[in-house]
Amino acid sequence: MFYMAIHGQDTIPHVKGRILISVRKGTIECDLTLSNMPQLSDYYLRLNSGMNIRYIKNAEPGMLPLRYERSQDDTLSSGESLAYYIPSYNESGKYLPHAVHFNYVGMYPVITDTTSAVDWRGNIAFNGKTLRADGIQSAWCPILYDVKTDRSYENVTYDLDITCHDCNVIYVNGSQPVSGTHAKVRSSTPQDLTLFSGDFKSVAINGNYFLNPDADEQQLTQLENTLDAYQKYLENKLGIPYKGKAVYIQTTPVSKNNSWMFASYPTIVSVSWHEGMKSFANKSTGTGFLQYMAHELAHYYFGKVRAFNSATRGMISEGFAEFLAMRITKNFISNSKYNDELKSKVRAMNNLTPVPMQKIRSEADYRNRELYVYYYAPLVFLAIEKEIGEEKMWTWLKVLLLSPAVKTDYTFFEQTLKEVVSDKAKFDLVREKYLESNQAFQNAVSALSIPADEFSAANNNIPVTKTYYYYVISRPMADIGSSQNNMIVHTEVAQITCLTTEFLDRVRATAIKVKQACKNATGCTNDINSYNSIEEAQAGLKRLLDRYNKNGRMVVKVLKP
Ligand SMILES: [Zn+2]
Repeated sequence: MFYMAIHGQDTIPHVKGRILISVRKGTIECDLTLSNMPQLSDYYLRLNSGMNIRYIKNAEPGMLPLRYERSQDDTLSSGESLAYYIPSYNESGKYLPHAVHFNYVGMYPVITDTTSAVDWRGNIAFNGKTLRADGIQSAWCPILYDVKTDRSYENVTYDLDITCHDCNVIYVNGSQPVSGTHAKVRSSTPQDLTLFSGDFKSVAINGNYFLNPDADEQQLTQLENTLDAYQKYLENKLGIPYKGKAVYIQTTPVSKNNSWMFASYPTIVSVSWHEGMKSFANKSTGTGFLQYMAHELAHYYFGKVRAFNSATRGMISEGFAEFLAMRITKNFISNSKYNDELKSKVRAMNNLTPVPMQKIRSEADYRNRELYVYYYAPLVFLAIEKEIGEEKMWTWLKVLLLSPAVKTDYTFFEQTLKEVVSDKAKFDLVREKYLESNQAFQNAVSALSIPADEFSAANNNIPVTKTYYYYVISRPMADIGSSQNNMIVHTEVAQITCLTTEFLDRVRATAIKVKQACKNATGCTNDINSYNSIEEAQAGLKRLLDRYNKNGRMVVKVLKP
């Protein structure tokens, strides 16, 4: 489609070659050629840090392996990949052949028992049954990155020959899942190379696929219907159709405590130990699941139709995905769910005093990225919608998605709004209230008529007198229970009546005493825990001691507060 060509990547690299996977051994062997690349002078080729390179060559026939180097300066990579380049004597010091042939192999731990401390989107995860690798962060296939424009070329056309002797389904983003141990997959539409292969069931409903679902066919049919209605709504409002059929993947993490969803349209992945697709049918968890799905479906627009850049990337991509999920909640789930969601967003903001959007210059300015992009930004966007009306809001979204600008920085964000509002006085008012003001959050809360109790809970600066039941506890930062980290120090439960603003000052000296008495090689935590009753405080202390001294290996010291 034309807008992809204009706003996505100007030139789309093509990846061709062979891949050999074993989900039982945790191995990936690749022999891949990247061609049709833009002629960049300053670039990196990002490749997952677990991949060992046999060679990099110019892909023309008969060429010898090239020397390559690694850069330490690729600070924008999310950490999973290394940044390679081919050194040269030209001005940039880097040389990029028209086509590059990579041969490399990776071996990863196969974790069937959740022993990994952490799992996340960019992890190349083998859980014993499947391989999961996302097509952006993991960089399991080399990804070209333009240093000058801060643009990465993860969307590629491809022609891949994949063998996996211990798989029964092989899936690459944008192709149909292939049953069997061998797949030849091609795409002439640019896709990131999200990969999911292994031993699982693949169910097709109305041309959409569900991979490894826990739900039965009847539940999946209902779910498919619901999600299809969400997609039609967004298509209709934004005037940009979804391309291709969706593939919904359900899988488990290799750690105990991580669960999340991510979208690389047409693929939407849910990684969790909780109920998966079938939680849709569950009365208490169903709406939460659908709200997450709505957010991921919205990423087709804010992520795929247009990939945003600059420091505003998170605020725009996540903020508008969440904004659209809120719209879907209101229109398809219920008004009361929508109101609950508004209130919970306002309550969460208790922990952040946001910088006005106009002052966002780097990711660090968010202070708390999670709160800023998923809570603050959608509240501000909903308030702006209240001011300018729904119709102009949809127009703004369309312009954000389709405007030919290259940099999607704050200026772009503001200019597009100005253009759509096309009323100077109105625009100035909106800018002043929601984009420039230090009170933008408060302004949004009142524009959205969120009940005063939520508002005051989030802005409770008036000191009152209160009785606290509290204790202070220090334990090892890490490696708890080892011989070098086996000390817990805590106070008994004590009581103080004072102004809410004074409490921390009153307890500080005790907290310092506790921390000083606690000796562990990894250092000690230092937590002041307070409650409204002595029973709650005692129960809280007991819970912590039970948790951290499970095996009775710890030396526990008790101090007088
Ligand atoms: Zn998101």
